[in-house]
Amino acid sequence: MNRFSIRTRLILILTLILLSGFLTTNIISYTASRKLVRTSIIGDNLPLARDNIYSEIQRDLMRPIFVSSLMANDTFLKDWVIAGEKGLPHITRYLLEVKQQYGFFTSFFISDRTRHYYHFKGLHKIISRDDDHDSWYYEFKAMNVEYDLDVDTDQAQDNRLTIFINHRLTDYAGHFLGVVGVGLNFDMVAGILDSYKEKYDRNVYMVDSQGLIQVHTHREHILKTNIFEQEGIRDIAGNLLGSKDEPSLLEYDKADEHYLTTCRYIKELDWYLLVEQNQTRAMAAVNKTFVKNLLLSLLITLFTILGTILVINYFQKQLEILATRDKLTRAFNRNEFERRYNYLAGMEKRDMLKLSIILFDIDRFKVINDTHGHVFGDAVIRKIADIAREITRENDILVRWGGDEFILLSIGDIEHARTIAQRLKDGISSHDFYSDHNVDSDLTGPVTVSCGIAQHLPEDDLDAFVNRADQALYAAKDRGRNCIVY
Ligand code: GH3
Ligand code: MG
Repeated sequence: MNRFSIRTRLILILTLILLSGFLTTNIISYTASRKLVRTSIIGDNLPLARDNIYSEIQRDLMRPIFVSSLMANDTFLKDWVIAGEKGLPHITRYLLEVKQQYGFFTSFFISDRTRHYYHFKGLHKIISRDDDHDSWYYEFKAMNVEYDLDVDTDQAQDNRLTIFINHRLTDYAGHFLGVVGVGLNFDMVAGILDSYKEKYDRNVYMVDSQGLIQVHTHREHILKTNIFEQEGIRDIAGNLLGSKDEPSLLEYDKADEHYLTTCRYIKELDWYLLVEQNQTRAMAAVNKTFVKNLLLSLLITLFTILGTILVINYFQKQLEILATRDKLTRAFNRNEFERRYNYLAGMEKRDMLKLSIILFDIDRFKVINDTHGHVFGDAVIRKIADIAREITRENDILVRWGGDEFILLSIGDIEHARTIAQRLKDGISSHDFYSDHNVDSDLTGPVTVSCGIAQHLPEDDLDAFVNRADQALYAAKDRGRNCIVY
């Protein structure tokens, strides 16, 4: 850990805190969301969908069951059959009326005595034991139940899939006369299931007590697929269809996906309604949100860390400036001057460069201060530092040595330093310090500096080096100021 700076450590800890914080909250909310989705599917959505569909199917199926029961108790029909089925228009009109009145797909009567199959358009056919299409009739007759529902194609109407409600017709003494009933367009029942599938992305279908699919949104499963043979659901099929009194809710896996299935027995049909939800697909939205939140957290962490680095860098820079520079002029202070001098002196020892200094001091600055005030005096000091920076090279080092005294540590020999000092002296004396501040220049005349120059000698330490420049500066002041001595 000691290998890292305080700054790096701070950034690492901050990153760690942010990431672990975001990760923890994201994981907690992810788990909670998954749990919520699952409990709402199991507790609300699936049972509600199941019971709604159950009610709708019951409503749609009860009417035809009721109507076929009415037909089976109709005295006209009984009398017409007992009287020997005379007059085809009578029965045709009767069947047409039933069909139209209640809006069914078809209506029919099959006479047990004549084997005539009547429907609303007239005599359709004469049924026969040898015809596979008619086998339902003989099966129903043998079953000895009041009514039964049968999904079949309607031969009389382009072989369209139809739910037939077959009702037993008897004479007044209870002897079997034939089968009467109506047909419900299968599309209508399937439509209810389709709308549920579309609205909630759930599979809705019906199976008989043997598990054979009777109604399904995918028509190809009808009378072809048995849930006892289907991968996944076959493991729970027995338990699903186990109870006729209580709806069941069970789960299974198929092809890496998890399914929740609820089942309810429809007594009137002797079928089971199954509503199934793919839990894996329902969780997809939760997973997506989790990934999105995670990415967002990473982004926020990244920006926070970047911002922190920028702020730290800024303040570090400010501290560095405070520690190494003079506040008024932004020239280096003595400490920094010593540090840089030591470094450059080391390079000079290796014959890599020569060093000179120009020590310059503002002439009669006390008078300027006393005449125009300290604020103006400060502005003059600041401007002189600016001018010095303008005429020096990047590697030259400007230092505020004292009140109105500066040092320019220049890389080069004394000749080079003299050129710079000349430019400095001329630059300052030709600058009009007064007009910038609306101050009367007549009282004090142009601002000038005196310069003392010295070249660094191999035996020099810093004091000796500066001392020589200082003596030169004294000499310059003695010579009447605004001049250079070396
Ligand atoms: P000389 O030509 O001999 O240098 O005359 P001088 O009046 O400039 O004398 P000296 O250099 O000794 O005076 C420096 C004056 O600078 C003294 C002090 O009041 C003033 N001074 C020092 N630091 C500051 C400062 O930061 N701001 C202002 N306005 N004046 C300062
Ligand atoms: Mg002075």
